[in-house]
Amino acid sequence: MNVVDETLKANEAYANGFNLGGLAMPPSRKLAVLACMDARLMVDQVLGLKTGEAHVIRNAGGIATEDAVRSLIISHHLLGTQEFAVINHTDCGMLTFKDEELASRLRKETGAAAVAPARFFSFQSLEDNVREQVHKIKSHPWIPRHIPVRGFIYDVRNGKLQEVRA
Ligand SMILES: [Zn+2]
Repeated sequence: MNVVDETLKANEAYANGFNLGGLAMPPSRKLAVLACMDARLMVDQVLGLKTGEAHVIRNAGGIATEDAVRSLIISHHLLGTQEFAVINHTDCGMLTFKDEELASRLRKETGAAAVAPARFFSFQSLEDNVREQVHKIKSHPWIPRHIPVRGFIYDVRNGKLQEVRA
């Protein structure tokens, strides 16, 4: 059995005990989280969130890319979220390479150039990366100034979140 088949099996059990079919579309706690995709960072568990309570937007590095910002804009303006959090974590894979090294390796391995992605958004400092994403979100003209945007680093060794001051 491959892993997707295993997950389908798990879903059968999940659906058997399912009783959340009546939840509303807007997140009940009016929170949107942008986080790295790292498998050790289970955002719902880390933040004590339940089904229906928050939007969780994830990508490699927790980067406020055009697409992540698109989701945040929809999250606030169409679905009513009122607070945003950005979460990076220790031991992030994005600290381990440089954009140009990966791009050139992939060009070599595949023999093909590609227009997208234009960047991988690798970074050297977690704190600086979090600050940069918070700033990108806060300064977007379609994100109202009154929305708090806070940044955090999750420690994969002890489970703790630490706030990154602006
Ligand atoms: Zn990461």
